[in-house]
Amino acid sequence: MKIDVLTLFPEMFEPINSSILGRAIKENHLDVNLINFRDFSKDASKHVDDTPYGGGAGMVIKPEPLYDAYLSIEDKENAEVIYMSPKGKLLTQNKVKELSSKEHLIIICGHYEGVDERIIEEIVDEEISIGDYVLTGGELPCMVLMDSVARNLNGVINSESVSDESFSNGLLEYPQYTRPEVFNGRKVPEVLLSGNHAKIDSWRKEKSLEITKERRNDLYEEYMKNEKNN
Ligand code: SAM
Repeated sequence: MKIDVLTLFPEMFEPINSSILGRAIKENHLDVNLINFRDFSKDASKHVDDTPYGGGAGMVIKPEPLYDAYLSIEDKENAEVIYMSPKGKLLTQNKVKELSSKEHLIIICGHYEGVDERIIEEIVDEEISIGDYVLTGGELPCMVLMDSVARNLNGVINSESVSDESFSNGLLEYPQYTRPEVFNGRKVPEVLLSGNHAKIDSWRKEKSLEITKERRNDLYEEYMKNEKNN
């Protein structure tokens, strides 16, 4: 998969070179290209923002530098263009799975008060939010999206890990334990030491349902509704 990122702060993307995302890039599962759209400003002082029409606080990113940066990307005919925005659709595991099947993403990171609406109308296919709160810029949301997409690309991590984790089947994951068997007087549940895989599976399912019901009743209700209809 190729991801072109349009940003004013490419240096903020250093964390993508670590951990699983870093490995996905090193092993060529993911090709990330950072484009500083300030380089496309025709302004002598390289400004990319201006005051909002109609007045109000803050600055708005002008459409031209973003558009020219977008035009500079090659082979973008089938690319999905995403604008990271608190006004977008909430990023969910289903959306992550859908995006991980795409060949090419172009992600726009806003800043200040956001981008001129006309650039959204002109080139954006979808606005995506990572949660109901406002961050300073789209760089952290973009990295959240890239990390979640990368772990779903074929060959990046063990497919069992992905299919077994929270949200993959509509539920939150069961509790996990490792050595030692007793820690500060707290024992690992007996069933996990039994070696009986049917019993372990059924304990994990039970815990998964219990935790989901307690912490995310919305997901639990949805899961139960789907179970009933199947
Ligand atoms: N004025 C905008 C509003 O009220 O909706 C907020 C602009 S925010 C300060 C600047 C940029 O950060 C946005 O253009 C967007 O790219 C990014 N951003 C902030 N919060 C976000 C979120 N929850 N999800 C995705 N992107 C976000």
